[in-house]
Amino acid sequence: MSAELLELTAAQAGEKVRAGEIKPAELFDFYRQRAASDQLGSYLWVAGEAPADSASGGPLGGVPLGVKDLFCVKGVPSAAASRILEGYKPPYTATSVERLVAAGAPVLGKTNMDEFAMGSSNENSGFGPVRNPWDTERVPGGSSGGSAAAVAAGNAPWAIGTDTGGSIRQPASLCGIVGLKPTYGAVSRYGMIAFASSLDQCGPLTRDVTDAALLFRHMIGRDCCDSTSLDYPNEVELPSAERLDGIRFGIWGLGEEGVEPGVVEACKAAIAKIEELGGAVEEIELPHAGYGLSAYYVIAPAEASANLARYDGVRYGIRSGNGDLLSMYENTRHDGFGAEVKRRIMLGTYALSSGYYDAYYGTAQRVRTKIADDFKDAFGRVDIVVTPTSPSVAFKLGERTKDPLAMYLSDYFTVPMSLAGIPAVSIPAGLSEGLPVGLQLAGPAFSEGRILDAAHALEKAIGFDGAAARG
Ligand code: GLN
Repeated sequence: MSAELLELTAAQAGEKVRAGEIKPAELFDFYRQRAASDQLGSYLWVAGEAPADSASGGPLGGVPLGVKDLFCVKGVPSAAASRILEGYKPPYTATSVERLVAAGAPVLGKTNMDEFAMGSSNENSGFGPVRNPWDTERVPGGSSGGSAAAVAAGNAPWAIGTDTGGSIRQPASLCGIVGLKPTYGAVSRYGMIAFASSLDQCGPLTRDVTDAALLFRHMIGRDCCDSTSLDYPNEVELPSAERLDGIRFGIWGLGEEGVEPGVVEACKAAIAKIEELGGAVEEIELPHAGYGLSAYYVIAPAEASANLARYDGVRYGIRSGNGDLLSMYENTRHDGFGAEVKRRIMLGTYALSSGYYDAYYGTAQRVRTKIADDFKDAFGRVDIVVTPTSPSVAFKLGERTKDPLAMYLSDYFTVPMSLAGIPAVSIPAGLSEGLPVGLQLAGPAFSEGRILDAAHALEKAIGFDGAAARG
């Protein structure tokens, strides 16, 4: 039975629960045990027992959910993998989590991540790294590395993460699973520990495209607690497409410097499948997208420096020192924040400082508008923009920790969509030297249904098999 359970997608497991073939508590316990014995470092907390009310199943069938540590869950440690929030148990639950729990996906555990979602390898966690189940010497990507590794390893049936510049799509790519970053505003940010508020979005990390659509449709919608959230303009259907006839795909980025040849090859093979399925393919230009990283590394640290000002030893988490107030602030932030977080606070504070605001933050915002305009132009000609998700496959632990700029390059292809606020999904395109390669499909705002449908057809044609990662 357990080998069978492991091979079911979340949607399939949920159907079996609804059909009475599996008891929800049995499914929960199966995954609870796998999560508790996870050897990859994917979890920071695992639920003790199956929730009493999971018997009903609901539309999500009682299938347990891995939740990134960035989400507040009432009474459960929620620290965004930062020592400064160690021991913090929020008095409320994030709206997205609350909605998924209400739809029948109980919380299985809190997944490891880069501290405050700053990173691309999960090595910036205050509680130790996560390993990639395809090769445990390698990183799972980040910042939602715990969610991605847990799903790929079969230690969570599905999970949620957050994406500010690539943190759902890049780890999904490196772990051989599906990751969706929704349109900005489609999902409430209430209860998500803030990193860069104009970019942060929550989304699913799943084994396949159908699971991603299923979770997504239960997360969306306006929330009175988040003024940037919106009523989703249409119903999100489960994907069913098997052909891509009449859909125009614009390819970007395969010729960019620094993309590994194995990544280019796997993406080209997937693009050939798009054509076999009837899709029209052309190369497109996004003239300003190459400046995305530069703009992102002004905007995101600037917003982070403001958002992280609240960690002062008074209101949340740890407190260091009992001298005067100023030294208590300084000691708390010195002891509680990791090196990358401190780097970002300093970068952001500088970028926002008097006399520099317009030169840095203002300029970066103008670049952001140019990138959004590039996408608008592109979507005049094509329906979906296709790029590699990450320029490389999973790299070795430690390989980029000494070189922040090399680490930042991981998000070259994902940051432009974040700046433009548009949705994008990463699906496995194939393997390069035994490691997964992700292909990214992006569309205009609120086109999640369409990009997931296209991804569904393509996923079937590619036939990626992730079983090797589920030991
Ligand atoms: N890797 C990027 C960063 O470090 C993106 C992180 C994210 O999307 N949360 O900022």
